[in-house]
Amino acid sequence: MFTKTRIKLTVLLAVILILLYALLSLMAGEVVNTLTIGQVDRSMRTGAMELLHHENLLKLALNQPQPDNLPDNRISPHMIHSLFLVDIRSNNGQLLAENDKALAQAVPFSLSKENQIQFLTWRDPSSGNHLRLITVPIINGNGGRIGFLQLGMDISPQVQVLQKFWQVFSTVGVIGFVVALLAGYYVSGRALRPIKNSWVQQQRFVADASHELRTPLTIIQSNLDLALSHAEDTKVEVLEWVSNAKAEARRLTRLTDDLLTLARSDGNETVLEITEVELSSLVMEVNDLFSPLAEVKQIQLMMEKDTKSGVDFMVKGDRARLRQLLIILIDNALKYTLEDGVIKVILSQQRHHTILKVQDTGIGMDQKEMAHAFDRFYRADLARKRETGGTGLGLSIAKWIVEMHGAKLTVQSEKGLGSTFIATF
Ligand code: ADP
Repeated sequence: MFTKTRIKLTVLLAVILILLYALLSLMAGEVVNTLTIGQVDRSMRTGAMELLHHENLLKLALNQPQPDNLPDNRISPHMIHSLFLVDIRSNNGQLLAENDKALAQAVPFSLSKENQIQFLTWRDPSSGNHLRLITVPIINGNGGRIGFLQLGMDISPQVQVLQKFWQVFSTVGVIGFVVALLAGYYVSGRALRPIKNSWVQQQRFVADASHELRTPLTIIQSNLDLALSHAEDTKVEVLEWVSNAKAEARRLTRLTDDLLTLARSDGNETVLEITEVELSSLVMEVNDLFSPLAEVKQIQLMMEKDTKSGVDFMVKGDRARLRQLLIILIDNALKYTLEDGVIKVILSQQRHHTILKVQDTGIGMDQKEMAHAFDRFYRADLARKRETGGTGLGLSIAKWIVEMHGAKLTVQSEKGLGSTFIATF
């Protein structure tokens, strides 16, 4: 899918570049044309007008006997000699006088309906020379046309310049096209990389999510099947299967809630309700929530405030999301701490930053586990074995909440000694 898109983008980019190049070439061609052929056209037009106004000059051009004294004019004898062809034609195009009969008969001539000056480039097949032809209508005093004056000038050097120009432009164009293709392939590859990465991530997320959802569903189904097929058994046995199913249904609810939160975070749909939040009262509230569970597990759960700072621990944030963050971190600490352990929620201030730490004396993590702890669906082997009912999504959500507040979440841990999660606001 991505290769096809990359090729399409490459071709599109190359076509755009080539079109731009073609446009540029046409413009440059027009300039060169004006500077070469345009120049010739202007001097031929002036020359033709001079010849028409000075009969002696015309005779000279036609190699006919002419008086010695040439009129004072702008057309130089040099110009007259550079004229390959000078001919006079009747109104119906018949040759009346010419300096080179064979050439005059060979050049194309078309009668213009309107009395307009016509220009034409013609290649003489016998010599290979390029001639620029100008046909000027001869108008009498009453404004009627009585014939044509046709001049021809060799423009082979100019044509050579033009040919050279197009040669260079087309060679550069071909090389440019190849370079544009290579550059386009490289650029489109780079442009598509982040899209591809996020697509791969989404695919993996969907696959992992489906896999994680299947496990509780299978457990629920098998326990309910057992309960239904042993309806005649004692109530106690049946109830055990039903309560297994219920526990898994609860896990399923948590999992779908977590998935929904992450899906919304990916779509940037969540809007934070920012207020001034006092962290120590929030910590106390969440600690109260977990203290019965901590008591059952014989774990000490406490809050510690760095009183040196002597300030309130105020942060600008969404109270509900910060509460969710604390729940995730304290819940994890309780899940991964053994009996007689201690969990401390520590608040402190460092320069302009408020720091929230959740520290436990639990099972801890090694370097590899720490590196993956914030990955979606990641659960260390030990965590899986302990059947803590986790989903592997808690820390991804915690990280997202912290980052949404423009803060940073890090972890310090040592296997067997405990872990500390640090949110720096
Ligand atoms: P889970 O639902 O499995 O707890 P989390 O995303 O919250 O998912 O955590 C990912 C993994 O990180 C856990 O499975 C566990 O291996 C490890 N972990 C998280 N918190 C702690 C902790 N306080 N102590 C040790 N390991 C932890």
